[in-house]
Amino acid sequence: MSPDPYQNCRLCPRDCGVNRCEGELGVCGESSEIRISHIGPHFGEEPSFTGTSGSGTIFFSGCSSRCFFCQNHQISTGHQGKVYTPELFMTEVKELIERKVHNLNFVTPDHFWPHLRELCLGLREQEILIPSVFNCSGYQKPGMVLEYSEFVDMFMPDMKFADGKLAGFCMNDRDYPEIAMEAIRRMVKTKGFLDPWDPTGRHAAKRGVLVRHLVLPGYVENSLKVLDLLYHEFGPGIPLSVMSQFRPVRGCSEKHAMTRSLFPEEYDRVIEHVERLGFEKVYTQVLSERTDYLPDFNDPEDPFPGHKKKDGG
Ligand code: SF4
Repeated sequence: MSPDPYQNCRLCPRDCGVNRCEGELGVCGESSEIRISHIGPHFGEEPSFTGTSGSGTIFFSGCSSRCFFCQNHQISTGHQGKVYTPELFMTEVKELIERKVHNLNFVTPDHFWPHLRELCLGLREQEILIPSVFNCSGYQKPGMVLEYSEFVDMFMPDMKFADGKLAGFCMNDRDYPEIAMEAIRRMVKTKGFLDPWDPTGRHAAKRGVLVRHLVLPGYVENSLKVLDLLYHEFGPGIPLSVMSQFRPVRGCSEKHAMTRSLFPEEYDRVIEHVERLGFEKVYTQVLSERTDYLPDFNDPEDPFPGHKKKDGG
């Protein structure tokens, strides 16, 4: 990586080539100053990450994917968050680790990778060892994966779209399916499947890859194709999280698409396909009318009112 990748930014597949140090903005909409919306223990991740004492989440503002239905739209396209100095970033991450979280969970970090790399190097120099998760959209430059893997232990990529036309409609890049599959291929090659696999959460994962997929209302066929792709590439052992929690957000009404939640029969069809293919390690979600699973980053101290520690903490 060049000394300052922000100067001619090509950190993600958008390849904007803008000078973020001079305040030029690319698709992710963030300058070279790191902006973070929330740092804290989170109890709403899959049990492999949440464990018993929470996953140490760090939510970065901005996103290079910019899906119109983004469930974190307040931070991804709304850019809520505050600018951190590298020193403050390190201080707050160390405070997070002191809260005994199982891991550091970097959420949508790719457009701030140079800062994150510095953080990981700093922790390593101080001999602070804790498993880390690169929690991402799947829309990563495959060529960057090897570098990420030198600093993080786990990858949690989305595989959002197998249908290029749908990807074009939702995030303006029809090449998402090929890009994401190649990135995930490389993630699995460097880290293997999630390990240990303990869906009770008693033994938090330390290494490997889990792939997430959010089922979209009206697009079950896309989900079936995503499952087919993953099965044919990795076999039934790839750990998956198949999510039903979609809620329509403002961008959906603007696009006149995905303006409702998922129907139970849609999710059932997807789970039936999971079972038909014989995937062995799968997190599923109860389809619920609850809306408090949708984060609210207007309250940066507690953006996840629906997710609390099981003992009421
Ligand atoms: S990180 Fe942002 S500016 Fe850089 S290439 Fe990606 S979208 Fe463009």
